[in-house]
Amino acid sequence: MLVLRLISLIIMSKEKITVFWFRRDLRFDDNAGLYHALQDQLPVLPLFIFDTEILDDLEDKKDARVEFIYKQVTEIHRQLEEKGSSIMVKKGKPEQVYKEILNEYEVGAVYTNHDYEPYAKERDGAIKKMLEESNIPFHTFKDHVILEKDEVQNNSGSYYKVFTPYKNKWLKQVNEHAFDGYPSALRFDNWHKIDPLPLPSLKAIGFEKTHTKIPSKTIKEDIIDSYDQTRDYPGITGGTSRLGIHLRHGTLSIRKLAKAARSLNDTFLNELIWRDFYIMILDHNPQVVDAAFKPKYDKIQWRNNEEEFEKWCQGKTGFPIVDAGMRQLNASGYMHNRIRMVTASFLTKHLLIDWRWGEAYFAGKLLDYELANNNGGWQWAAGCGTDAQPYFRIFNPYSQAKKYDKNKTYIKEWVPEYDSEEYPEPMVNHEKARERCLKVYKKALGK
Ligand code: FAD
Repeated sequence: MLVLRLISLIIMSKEKITVFWFRRDLRFDDNAGLYHALQDQLPVLPLFIFDTEILDDLEDKKDARVEFIYKQVTEIHRQLEEKGSSIMVKKGKPEQVYKEILNEYEVGAVYTNHDYEPYAKERDGAIKKMLEESNIPFHTFKDHVILEKDEVQNNSGSYYKVFTPYKNKWLKQVNEHAFDGYPSALRFDNWHKIDPLPLPSLKAIGFEKTHTKIPSKTIKEDIIDSYDQTRDYPGITGGTSRLGIHLRHGTLSIRKLAKAARSLNDTFLNELIWRDFYIMILDHNPQVVDAAFKPKYDKIQWRNNEEEFEKWCQGKTGFPIVDAGMRQLNASGYMHNRIRMVTASFLTKHLLIDWRWGEAYFAGKLLDYELANNNGGWQWAAGCGTDAQPYFRIFNPYSQAKKYDKNKTYIKEWVPEYDSEEYPEPMVNHEKARERCLKVYKKALGK
Protein backbone atom coordinates (compact mmCIF):
# COMPACT_ATOMS: atom_id res chain seq x y z
CA MET A 1 0.00 0.00 0.00
CA LEU A 2 2.67 2.42 1.13
CA VAL A 3 4.77 1.64 -1.94
CA LEU A 4 1.80 2.29 -4.22
CA ARG A 5 1.10 5.63 -2.53
CA LEU A 6 4.72 6.60 -2.88
CA ILE A 7 4.67 5.71 -6.59
CA SER A 8 1.51 7.72 -7.17
CA LEU A 9 3.00 10.67 -5.29
CA ILE A 10 6.08 10.50 -7.50
CA ILE A 11 3.89 10.35 -10.60
CA MET A 12 1.83 13.28 -9.38
CA SER A 13 4.89 15.38 -8.77
CA LYS A 14 6.36 14.82 -12.21
CA GLU A 15 6.52 18.00 -14.24
CA LYS A 16 4.43 18.10 -17.42
CA ILE A 17 6.39 19.05 -20.46
CA THR A 18 6.64 18.75 -24.23
CA VAL A 19 9.96 17.64 -25.68
CA PHE A 20 11.56 19.21 -28.72
CA TRP A 21 14.32 16.96 -30.01
CA PHE A 22 17.05 18.92 -31.86
CA ARG A 23 18.98 16.87 -34.42
CA ARG A 24 20.10 18.26 -37.79
CA ASP A 25 18.21 21.52 -37.24
CA LEU A 26 20.46 23.31 -34.78
CA ARG A 27 18.82 26.73 -34.85
CA PHE A 28 15.98 28.62 -33.21
CA ASP A 29 14.78 30.68 -36.15
CA ASP A 30 12.64 29.19 -38.92
CA ASN A 31 12.66 25.68 -37.47
CA ALA A 32 9.47 23.82 -38.42
CA GLY A 33 9.41 21.25 -35.61
CA LEU A 34 10.42 23.75 -32.98
CA TYR A 35 7.78 26.21 -34.14
CA HIS A 36 5.09 23.53 -33.72
CA ALA A 37 6.47 22.42 -30.35
CA LEU A 38 6.35 25.98 -29.03
CA GLN A 39 2.65 26.19 -29.99
CA ASP A 40 1.93 23.27 -27.64
CA GLN A 41 0.11 24.03 -24.41
CA LEU A 42 2.85 22.48 -22.33
CA PRO A 43 6.21 24.17 -21.88
CA VAL A 44 8.99 22.89 -24.09
CA LEU A 45 12.04 21.04 -22.87
CA PRO A 46 14.62 20.98 -25.66
CA LEU A 47 16.76 17.88 -25.97
CA PHE A 48 19.93 16.95 -27.83
CA ILE A 49 21.38 13.45 -27.78
CA PHE A 50 24.98 12.72 -28.67
CA ASP A 51 23.97 9.37 -30.12
CA THR A 52 26.57 6.72 -29.34
CA GLU A 53 25.25 4.57 -32.19
CA ILE A 54 26.65 7.25 -34.51
CA LEU A 55 29.62 8.51 -32.50
CA ASP A 56 31.07 5.07 -31.76
CA ASP A 57 31.55 4.54 -35.49
CA LEU A 58 33.78 7.60 -35.82
CA GLU A 59 37.34 6.31 -35.51
CA ASP A 60 39.05 9.69 -35.36
CA LYS A 61 38.21 11.32 -32.06
CA LYS A 62 39.40 14.64 -33.40
CA ASP A 63 36.38 15.19 -35.57
CA ALA A 64 35.60 18.77 -36.57
CA ARG A 65 31.96 17.87 -37.31
CA VAL A 66 31.35 16.68 -33.75
CA GLU A 67 33.15 19.75 -32.44
CA PHE A 68 30.96 21.94 -34.66
CA ILE A 69 27.77 20.27 -33.40
CA TYR A 70 29.03 20.61 -29.83
CA LYS A 71 29.59 24.34 -30.30
CA GLN A 72 26.09 24.85 -31.71
CA VAL A 73 24.53 22.94 -28.82
CA THR A 74 26.60 25.00 -26.37
CA GLU A 75 25.29 28.17 -28.02
CA ILE A 76 21.68 26.93 -27.74
CA HIS A 77 22.39 26.13 -24.08
CA ARG A 78 23.71 29.66 -23.49
CA GLN A 79 20.78 31.36 -25.18
CA LEU A 80 18.22 29.29 -23.29
CA GLU A 81 19.92 30.12 -20.02
CA GLU A 82 19.11 33.76 -20.74
CA LYS A 83 15.45 32.72 -21.02
CA GLY A 84 15.54 30.97 -17.64
CA SER A 85 15.47 27.64 -19.42
CA SER A 86 17.94 25.00 -20.55
CA ILE A 87 18.59 22.33 -23.12
CA MET A 88 18.96 18.78 -21.88
CA VAL A 89 22.10 17.29 -23.43
CA LYS A 90 22.62 13.55 -23.13
CA LYS A 91 25.11 11.06 -24.46
CA GLY A 92 23.85 7.56 -25.10
CA LYS A 93 21.41 5.46 -27.05
CA PRO A 94 18.26 7.43 -27.84
CA GLU A 95 15.86 4.75 -26.55
CA GLN A 96 17.68 4.66 -23.22
CA VAL A 97 17.66 8.48 -23.02
CA TYR A 98 13.91 8.53 -23.63
CA LYS A 99 13.36 5.94 -20.91
CA GLU A 100 15.17 8.24 -18.48
CA ILE A 101 13.15 11.26 -19.60
CA LEU A 102 9.86 9.38 -19.21
CA ASN A 103 10.90 8.41 -15.69
CA GLU A 104 11.63 11.99 -14.78
CA TYR A 105 8.86 13.91 -16.56
CA GLU A 106 5.29 13.55 -17.62
CA VAL A 107 5.74 14.02 -21.35
CA GLY A 108 2.74 15.33 -23.33
CA ALA A 109 4.31 14.96 -26.77
CA VAL A 110 7.63 14.81 -28.57
CA TYR A 111 8.29 17.06 -31.57
CA THR A 112 11.12 16.78 -34.05
CA ASN A 113 12.00 17.17 -37.74
CA HIS A 114 12.16 14.48 -40.41
CA ASP A 115 15.39 12.66 -41.02
CA TYR A 116 15.65 10.59 -44.19
CA GLU A 117 18.72 8.46 -43.54
CA PRO A 118 18.18 4.71 -43.02
CA TYR A 119 19.62 4.56 -39.49
CA ALA A 120 17.67 7.65 -38.42
CA LYS A 121 14.41 6.29 -39.81
CA GLU A 122 14.87 3.04 -37.93
CA ARG A 123 15.75 4.91 -34.73
CA ASP A 124 12.76 7.23 -35.05
CA GLY A 125 10.46 4.26 -35.71
CA ALA A 126 11.62 2.62 -32.48
CA ILE A 127 11.20 5.83 -30.46
CA LYS A 128 7.75 6.45 -31.93
CA LYS A 129 6.67 2.94 -31.00
CA MET A 130 8.03 3.26 -27.49
CA LEU A 131 6.32 6.63 -26.94
CA GLU A 132 3.03 5.44 -28.37
CA GLU A 133 3.00 2.58 -25.88
CA SER A 134 2.71 5.33 -23.25
CA ASN A 135 0.17 7.24 -25.37
CA ILE A 136 2.67 9.98 -26.17
CA PRO A 137 2.45 11.30 -29.73
CA PHE A 138 5.62 11.71 -31.78
CA HIS A 139 5.14 14.66 -34.17
CA THR A 140 7.63 15.09 -37.00
CA PHE A 141 7.91 17.81 -39.66
CA LYS A 142 9.60 18.59 -42.95
CA ASP A 143 12.44 21.00 -42.30
CA HIS A 144 15.65 19.79 -43.96
CA VAL A 145 14.51 20.14 -47.59
CA ILE A 146 12.08 22.17 -49.69
CA LEU A 147 10.19 19.21 -51.20
CA GLU A 148 10.42 15.73 -49.74
CA LYS A 149 9.29 12.12 -50.01
CA ASP A 150 6.44 11.83 -52.54
CA GLU A 151 5.87 15.53 -53.07
CA VAL A 152 7.42 15.41 -56.56
CA GLN A 153 5.97 12.54 -58.56
CA ASN A 154 5.85 11.60 -62.22
CA ASN A 155 2.58 11.10 -64.09
CA SER A 156 2.37 7.46 -63.05
CA GLY A 157 2.50 8.47 -59.40
CA SER A 158 5.98 7.30 -58.59
CA TYR A 159 9.18 9.10 -57.69
CA TYR A 160 11.65 10.29 -60.33
CA LYS A 161 14.87 8.34 -60.89
CA VAL A 162 16.53 10.93 -63.14
CA PHE A 163 17.31 14.50 -62.16
CA THR A 164 16.21 16.68 -65.09
CA PRO A 165 12.53 15.65 -65.21
CA TYR A 166 12.53 15.74 -61.39
CA LYS A 167 13.81 19.29 -61.46
CA ASN A 168 11.25 20.39 -64.03
CA LYS A 169 8.42 18.96 -61.95
CA TRP A 170 9.95 20.40 -58.75
CA LEU A 171 9.89 23.87 -60.29
CA LYS A 172 6.27 23.42 -61.38
CA GLN A 173 5.18 21.96 -58.08
CA VAL A 174 6.82 24.33 -55.65
CA ASN A 175 4.73 27.25 -54.47
CA GLU A 176 5.49 30.41 -52.53
CA HIS A 177 4.59 28.81 -49.20
CA ALA A 178 7.38 26.26 -49.56
CA PHE A 179 9.83 29.08 -48.82
CA ASP A 180 7.89 30.65 -45.96
CA GLY A 181 9.79 30.74 -42.73
CA TYR A 182 8.38 29.35 -39.49
CA PRO A 183 8.25 32.18 -36.95
CA SER A 184 9.55 30.12 -34.03
CA ALA A 185 10.12 33.37 -32.15
CA LEU A 186 6.35 33.94 -31.84
CA ARG A 187 6.04 31.86 -28.71
CA PHE A 188 9.61 32.06 -27.64
CA ASP A 189 8.59 32.27 -24.00
CA ASN A 190 7.07 28.79 -23.94
CA TRP A 191 10.20 27.08 -22.67
CA HIS A 192 10.24 24.86 -19.63
CA LYS A 193 11.67 27.04 -16.87
CA ILE A 194 14.54 25.28 -15.21
CA ASP A 195 18.01 26.01 -13.82
CA PRO A 196 20.73 25.31 -16.36
CA LEU A 197 21.11 21.58 -16.85
CA PRO A 198 24.65 20.21 -16.91
CA LEU A 199 26.36 20.37 -20.28
CA PRO A 200 28.83 17.51 -20.69
CA SER A 201 32.27 18.55 -21.96
CA LEU A 202 33.44 17.60 -25.44
CA LYS A 203 35.91 15.27 -23.75
CA ALA A 204 33.13 13.57 -21.82
CA ILE A 205 31.44 12.92 -25.15
CA GLY A 206 34.66 11.21 -26.24
CA PHE A 207 36.07 13.85 -28.60
CA GLU A 208 38.81 16.45 -28.71
CA LYS A 209 39.10 19.96 -30.05
CA THR A 210 40.41 20.34 -33.59
CA HIS A 211 40.31 24.13 -33.98
CA THR A 212 39.21 23.66 -37.61
CA LYS A 213 38.05 26.83 -39.35
CA ILE A 214 34.37 26.55 -40.24
CA PRO A 215 33.02 28.66 -43.12
CA SER A 216 30.56 31.38 -42.16
CA LYS A 217 26.82 30.71 -42.38
CA THR A 218 26.07 34.16 -43.78
CA ILE A 219 24.26 34.05 -47.10
CA LYS A 220 26.56 36.11 -49.33
CA GLU A 221 24.37 37.51 -52.07
CA ASP A 222 27.29 38.49 -54.31
CA ILE A 223 28.52 34.86 -54.37
CA ILE A 224 25.08 33.53 -55.24
CA ASP A 225 24.56 36.28 -57.78
CA SER A 226 27.62 35.32 -59.85
CA TYR A 227 27.51 31.58 -59.04
CA ASP A 228 26.84 30.43 -62.61
CA GLN A 229 30.01 32.26 -63.76
CA THR A 230 32.33 31.13 -60.98
CA ARG A 231 31.19 27.78 -59.59
CA ASP A 232 33.24 25.58 -61.91
CA TYR A 233 36.62 27.11 -61.19
CA PRO A 234 38.30 25.73 -58.08
CA GLY A 235 40.95 28.46 -58.12
CA ILE A 236 38.38 31.22 -57.52
CA THR A 237 38.02 32.10 -53.85
CA GLY A 238 34.36 32.68 -53.11
CA GLY A 239 33.28 30.92 -56.30
CA THR A 240 30.81 28.78 -54.33
CA SER A 241 28.92 29.37 -51.09
CA ARG A 242 30.69 26.92 -48.71
CA LEU A 243 27.35 26.59 -46.91
CA GLY A 244 27.28 22.77 -47.03
CA ILE A 245 28.06 22.17 -43.35
CA HIS A 246 25.33 24.62 -42.30
CA LEU A 247 22.74 22.92 -44.47
CA ARG A 248 23.79 19.53 -43.17
CA HIS A 249 23.35 20.48 -39.53
CA GLY A 250 20.55 22.96 -39.99
CA THR A 251 22.46 25.94 -38.65
CA LEU A 252 21.04 27.65 -41.71
CA SER A 253 17.45 27.26 -42.90
CA ILE A 254 17.16 25.74 -46.38
CA ARG A 255 14.01 27.81 -46.94
CA LYS A 256 15.89 31.04 -46.31
CA LEU A 257 18.70 30.04 -48.67
CA ALA A 258 16.40 28.73 -51.40
CA LYS A 259 14.35 31.92 -51.23
CA ALA A 260 17.50 33.98 -51.81
CA ALA A 261 18.61 31.63 -54.59
CA ARG A 262 15.26 31.94 -56.34
CA SER A 263 15.56 35.65 -56.70
CA LEU A 264 19.29 35.73 -57.45
CA ASN A 265 20.51 32.79 -59.49
CA ASP A 266 18.80 29.81 -61.14
CA THR A 267 22.03 27.79 -61.31
CA PHE A 268 22.42 28.03 -57.56
CA LEU A 269 18.80 27.04 -57.03
CA ASN A 270 19.46 24.09 -59.32
CA GLU A 271 22.12 22.80 -56.92
CA LEU A 272 19.69 23.05 -54.02
CA ILE A 273 17.24 20.99 -56.10
CA TRP A 274 19.99 18.36 -56.57
CA ARG A 275 20.16 18.23 -52.80
CA ASP A 276 16.39 17.65 -52.50
CA PHE A 277 16.69 15.03 -55.26
CA TYR A 278 19.43 12.97 -53.64
CA ILE A 279 17.76 13.13 -50.23
CA MET A 280 14.50 11.93 -51.83
CA ILE A 281 16.38 9.13 -53.64
CA LEU A 282 17.97 7.93 -50.40
CA ASP A 283 14.61 8.08 -48.64
CA HIS A 284 13.08 5.82 -51.29
CA ASN A 285 16.16 3.62 -51.73
CA PRO A 286 17.93 2.97 -48.43
CA GLN A 287 19.78 0.11 -50.17
CA VAL A 288 21.98 2.59 -52.07
CA VAL A 289 24.10 3.02 -48.95
CA ASP A 290 25.71 -0.33 -49.74
CA ALA A 291 24.66 -1.14 -53.28
CA ALA A 292 24.62 0.40 -56.74
CA PHE A 293 21.41 2.25 -57.60
CA LYS A 294 21.53 0.35 -60.89
CA PRO A 295 22.07 -3.22 -59.63
CA LYS A 296 23.85 -4.54 -62.71
CA TYR A 297 26.80 -2.28 -61.86
CA ASP A 298 27.42 -4.39 -58.79
CA LYS A 299 28.90 -6.96 -61.17
CA ILE A 300 31.94 -4.77 -61.89
CA GLN A 301 35.19 -6.54 -61.03
CA TRP A 302 36.97 -3.82 -59.07
CA ARG A 303 40.74 -4.09 -58.90
CA ASN A 304 40.82 -2.62 -55.36
CA ASN A 305 44.59 -2.26 -55.14
CA GLU A 306 45.34 -1.00 -51.63
CA GLU A 307 48.64 0.68 -52.50
CA GLU A 308 47.01 2.58 -55.31
CA PHE A 309 44.16 3.59 -53.02
CA GLU A 310 46.70 4.94 -50.55
CA LYS A 311 48.34 7.07 -53.25
CA TRP A 312 44.96 8.49 -54.18
CA CYS A 313 44.14 9.25 -50.53
CA GLN A 314 47.42 11.05 -50.00
CA GLY A 315 47.29 13.04 -53.22
CA LYS A 316 50.30 11.32 -54.78
CA THR A 317 48.86 9.98 -58.01
CA GLY A 318 51.06 12.07 -60.30
CA PHE A 319 47.95 13.80 -61.73
CA PRO A 320 48.17 17.37 -60.37
CA ILE A 321 44.44 18.16 -60.49
CA VAL A 322 43.57 14.93 -58.65
CA ASP A 323 46.33 15.44 -56.10
CA ALA A 324 45.32 19.06 -55.50
CA GLY A 325 41.80 17.92 -54.69
CA MET A 326 42.86 15.17 -52.31
CA ARG A 327 45.31 17.45 -50.54
CA GLN A 328 42.68 20.17 -50.20
CA LEU A 329 40.34 17.60 -48.66
CA ASN A 330 42.98 16.25 -46.26
CA ALA A 331 44.09 19.70 -45.15
CA SER A 332 40.79 21.55 -44.93
CA GLY A 333 37.87 19.09 -44.88
CA TYR A 334 36.63 20.59 -48.13
CA MET A 335 36.99 19.83 -51.83
CA HIS A 336 35.57 21.86 -54.68
CA ASN A 337 32.61 20.18 -56.44
CA ARG A 338 34.28 19.88 -59.86
CA ILE A 339 37.30 18.31 -58.28
CA ARG A 340 35.10 15.91 -56.28
CA MET A 341 33.85 14.71 -59.66
CA VAL A 342 37.38 14.46 -61.09
CA THR A 343 38.88 12.60 -58.11
CA ALA A 344 35.89 10.26 -57.82
CA SER A 345 36.00 9.46 -61.51
CA PHE A 346 39.75 8.87 -61.30
CA LEU A 347 39.42 6.43 -58.40
CA THR A 348 36.58 4.42 -59.86
CA LYS A 349 37.48 4.53 -63.53
CA HIS A 350 41.25 5.03 -63.87
CA LEU A 351 42.11 2.86 -60.88
CA LEU A 352 39.01 0.64 -60.88
CA ILE A 353 38.63 0.94 -57.13
CA ASP A 354 35.16 0.39 -55.67
CA TRP A 355 33.22 3.65 -55.29
CA ARG A 356 32.35 2.57 -51.73
CA TRP A 357 36.02 2.95 -50.71
CA GLY A 358 36.13 6.49 -51.99
CA GLU A 359 32.75 7.32 -50.54
CA ALA A 360 33.87 6.15 -47.10
CA TYR A 361 37.08 8.17 -47.37
CA PHE A 362 35.15 11.34 -48.24
CA ALA A 363 32.65 10.59 -45.46
CA GLY A 364 35.46 10.58 -42.93
CA LYS A 365 36.94 13.87 -44.11
CA LEU A 366 34.27 16.21 -45.50
CA LEU A 367 33.04 18.91 -43.15
CA ASP A 368 29.89 19.14 -45.27
CA TYR A 369 29.43 15.36 -45.35
CA GLU A 370 25.81 14.52 -46.18
CA LEU A 371 25.13 10.84 -46.76
CA ALA A 372 22.60 11.35 -49.56
CA ASN A 373 24.77 13.82 -51.52
CA ASN A 374 28.00 11.93 -51.02
CA ASN A 375 26.45 8.64 -52.04
CA GLY A 376 24.69 10.28 -54.97
CA GLY A 377 27.88 12.04 -56.09
CA TRP A 378 29.96 8.87 -55.89
CA GLN A 379 27.43 6.73 -57.70
CA TRP A 380 27.13 9.42 -60.37
CA ALA A 381 30.91 9.45 -60.86
CA ALA A 382 31.10 5.65 -60.99
CA GLY A 383 28.23 5.63 -63.48
CA CYS A 384 26.05 3.35 -61.36
CA GLY A 385 23.81 6.06 -59.92
CA THR A 386 20.55 7.74 -60.73
CA ASP A 387 21.48 9.96 -63.56
CA ALA A 388 22.15 9.46 -67.20
CA GLN A 389 25.94 9.77 -66.81
CA PRO A 390 26.96 6.93 -69.17
CA TYR A 391 29.68 4.56 -68.03
CA PHE A 392 31.82 5.36 -71.08
CA ARG A 393 32.15 9.03 -70.16
CA ILE A 394 35.46 9.09 -68.33
CA PHE A 395 36.83 12.39 -67.04
CA ASN A 396 40.20 13.25 -68.53
CA PRO A 397 42.21 14.80 -65.67
CA TYR A 398 44.42 16.72 -68.09
CA SER A 399 41.64 18.38 -70.04
CA GLN A 400 39.67 19.06 -66.83
CA ALA A 401 42.73 20.90 -65.46
CA LYS A 402 43.21 22.79 -68.69
CA LYS A 403 39.60 23.89 -68.84
CA TYR A 404 38.87 24.67 -65.21
CA ASP A 405 42.28 25.59 -63.80
CA LYS A 406 43.82 27.24 -66.82
CA ASN A 407 46.36 29.30 -64.89
CA LYS A 408 47.03 26.45 -62.45
CA THR A 409 45.98 28.64 -59.52
CA TYR A 410 44.40 25.71 -57.72
CA ILE A 411 47.16 23.22 -58.57
CA LYS A 412 49.88 25.62 -57.45
CA GLU A 413 48.10 26.22 -54.16
CA TRP A 414 47.84 22.55 -53.21
CA VAL A 415 50.65 20.88 -55.16
CA PRO A 416 53.42 23.49 -55.23
CA GLU A 417 56.00 20.91 -56.37
CA TYR A 418 53.85 19.76 -59.33
CA ASP A 419 56.48 20.93 -61.84
CA SER A 420 59.58 19.61 -60.09
CA GLU A 421 61.49 16.36 -59.89
CA GLU A 422 60.04 15.69 -56.47
CA TYR A 423 56.63 15.19 -58.01
CA PRO A 424 55.75 11.55 -58.85
CA GLU A 425 55.21 10.27 -62.38
CA PRO A 426 51.54 9.61 -63.25
CA MET A 427 50.63 6.31 -61.58
CA VAL A 428 48.72 5.16 -64.68
CA ASN A 429 48.70 6.04 -68.34
CA HIS A 430 45.48 7.91 -68.98
CA GLU A 431 44.63 6.28 -72.31
CA LYS A 432 45.47 2.76 -71.16
CA ALA A 433 43.52 3.21 -67.94
CA ARG A 434 40.58 4.46 -69.94
CA GLU A 435 40.61 1.41 -72.22
CA ARG A 436 40.96 -0.95 -69.27
CA CYS A 437 37.99 0.68 -67.57
CA LEU A 438 35.80 0.40 -70.65
CA LYS A 439 36.65 -3.28 -70.95
CA VAL A 440 35.82 -4.05 -67.33
CA TYR A 441 32.58 -2.04 -67.37
CA LYS A 442 31.47 -3.59 -70.66
CA LYS A 443 32.08 -7.07 -69.34
CA ALA A 444 30.06 -6.37 -66.18
CA LEU A 445 27.21 -4.88 -68.14
CA GLY A 446 27.23 -7.64 -70.75
CA LYS A 447 27.89 -5.19 -73.63
P1 FAD B 1 27.66 25.32 -53.47
O1 FAD B 1 28.19 25.00 -54.80
O2 FAD B 1 27.72 26.71 -53.00
O3 FAD B 1 26.14 24.81 -53.45
C1 FAD B 1 25.25 25.16 -52.37
C2 FAD B 1 24.67 23.93 -51.74
O4 FAD B 1 23.93 23.17 -52.69
C3 FAD B 1 25.72 22.94 -51.23
O5 FAD B 1 26.22 23.33 -49.99
C4 FAD B 1 24.92 21.65 -51.19
O6 FAD B 1 24.09 21.56 -50.07
C5 FAD B 1 24.04 21.78 -52.43
N1 FAD B 1 24.69 21.14 -53.56
C6 FAD B 1 25.58 21.70 -54.42
N2 FAD B 1 25.94 20.80 -55.37
C7 FAD B 1 25.28 19.68 -55.09
C8 FAD B 1 25.22 18.40 -55.72
N3 FAD B 1 25.90 18.11 -56.83
N4 FAD B 1 24.44 17.45 -55.15
C9 FAD B 1 23.70 17.71 -54.06
N5 FAD B 1 23.71 18.91 -53.43
C10 FAD B 1 24.49 19.87 -53.94
N6 FAD B 1 27.58 17.60 -51.07
C11 FAD B 1 27.34 17.59 -49.76
O7 FAD B 1 26.60 18.45 -49.27
N7 FAD B 1 27.86 16.61 -48.95
C12 FAD B 1 28.64 15.62 -49.44
O8 FAD B 1 29.06 14.75 -48.67
C13 FAD B 1 28.94 15.63 -50.82
N8 FAD B 1 29.75 14.69 -51.35
C14 FAD B 1 29.99 14.70 -52.71
C15 FAD B 1 30.78 13.67 -53.28
C16 FAD B 1 31.03 13.63 -54.64
C17 FAD B 1 31.85 12.54 -55.24
C18 FAD B 1 30.48 14.65 -55.47
C19 FAD B 1 30.74 14.64 -56.94
C20 FAD B 1 29.70 15.67 -54.92
C21 FAD B 1 29.44 15.70 -53.55
N9 FAD B 1 28.65 16.72 -52.96
C22 FAD B 1 28.38 16.67 -51.63
C23 FAD B 1 28.03 17.77 -53.79
C24 FAD B 1 28.86 19.07 -53.92
O9 FAD B 1 30.17 18.75 -54.31
C25 FAD B 1 28.92 19.87 -52.62
O10 FAD B 1 27.62 20.08 -52.12
C26 FAD B 1 29.56 21.22 -52.81
O11 FAD B 1 30.83 21.09 -53.37
C27 FAD B 1 29.68 21.90 -51.45
O12 FAD B 1 30.30 23.14 -51.59
P2 FAD B 1 29.47 24.48 -51.35
O13 FAD B 1 28.82 24.41 -50.02
O14 FAD B 1 30.37 25.62 -51.64
O15 FAD B 1 28.35 24.31 -52.45
